[in-house]
Amino acid sequence: MPTSNDNLTLHGFEPYKEKKGEEYMGEEQLQHFKNLLTAWKTELMEEVDRTVSHMQDEASNFPDPADRASQEEEFSLELRTRDRERKLIKKIDKTIEHIDADDYGFCDSCGVEIGIRRLEARPTATQCVDCKTLAEIKEKQVGL
Ligand SMILES: [Zn+2]
Repeated sequence: MPTSNDNLTLHGFEPYKEKKGEEYMGEEQLQHFKNLLTAWKTELMEEVDRTVSHMQDEASNFPDPADRASQEEEFSLELRTRDRERKLIKKIDKTIEHIDADDYGFCDSCGVEIGIRRLEARPTATQCVDCKTLAEIKEKQVGL
């Protein structure tokens, strides 16, 4: 099973190297994740800006209704992407609040350490792998 972080971009940061006996979610670790989340948020906000200016550029008149229709389709797709990004930015903000409140890195459901590697892959994770998997199974059963 691949467990390496080779494919992880980490928004320009190196994976965190724990010192021996270091406390989980001590000041340095919290700072690491705060940096990571802040960089991620900046990336997303730039992405949103790009989408907006792209749409403004493209919002010229298309005399052909077929062109217009495909353009509208493209726009609605971009709007959905933007919506997702906005939600993600909100989630990141919330996560940063948790870091500032020294309430980060532990599973909301069972309280165990979520783990540095998992958090680097998913910095906004609020559940450990087990609880998340369970929640996903339940979600599927409800038919969402
Ligand atoms: Zn859990």
